Order: sequence, then C-alpha cells, then structure tokens
Amino acid sequence: MRQLTPNFHEREFACKDALRGKTSPPFCNGSVGKGISQELVNGLQQVRDKVGKPILVTSGYRCPAYNASLSGAASQSKHMKGTAADIRVDGMTSEQLMKVVEELNLFTGRGLYPGQGFVHVDVRNGLHGSVTRWVKRINKPYQGVTSFKGLV
Ligand SMILES: [Zn+2]
Repeated sequence: MRQLTPNFHEREFACKDALRGKTSPPFCNGSVGKGISQELVNGLQQVRDKVGKPILVTSGYRCPAYNASLSGAASQSKHMKGTAADIRVDGMTSEQLMKVVEELNLFTGRGLYPGQGFVHVDVRNGLHGSVTRWVKRINKPYQGVTSFKGLV
C-alpha cells in the first residue's frame, strides 16, 4: 500500500470485508484488487483541497464477494474496478459535499444519498466527460437526474 496523493493513501480505499470478519476466500481480506484509479484519487485530492478538511472514504475498492454481500449494491458496481468511492466530510451534508463536486465539475458518475451523509463518485468516463447523476433516497431512487442544482 502506498501514498497516492498528498492526502490519500491506498489503505484508505481497501476493501472493508475484514471489518466484518470476512477474511477467507472468496473475500479478499482488505485488498485493493488490481489497484485504485489514480484519476479517481486525483479528483478526490482536488475536492480535499477545496473543502480544506479530511475526506473520509466510506467505501473504496470492493471485491466481488464483498460487493455481493451488501444489500443495495449494484451487481456491476464500479467499486469492484477501483474506479469509485463513497465519501463524506464531517460537518457537511451530502448535498453540501455534492455542491463542491458540481462546482469543480469532477467525476463522471455522481450519486447523491440524502440523509445518509455520503456521496458516490466514480470515473466511468474519466474525470471529465459525459456525467451520469442519480439521487437515491432509501426505498426511493430517482434515475435520470441531469442536475443537482435544484437539490442542493
Ligand atoms: Zn474484499
């Protein structure tokens, strides 16, 4: 595990399976798979610089077994490719954090999880490019969101 940018170390993105006692195959025991996308982390560093406070990675890499064990996780989740992160910042709502992401216009997958305190970001089309947005309230997903401006 190594330092990826000034404020992000690879270990912060490790699969959280071991925290649930899942350390045997088919689980990966806290690995980062084939590695974390540098483009993703470069974007996170820009958000970190703008916010001026630590960004907590609540979910980075997920091995397929761990992803499958999570209720509500997408079967083709970008987390399994090391190209996605769920992030939060102490003292900020998910809406406030997403507003920073929108202002910086970073990440091509942006998911807002109101009331859960985190946002999902990924680099499915790179750091800049065609953006896919969604809002997911518990039991109430909204697909096809084209802007978060009315929500933040
Ligand atoms: Zn794992």
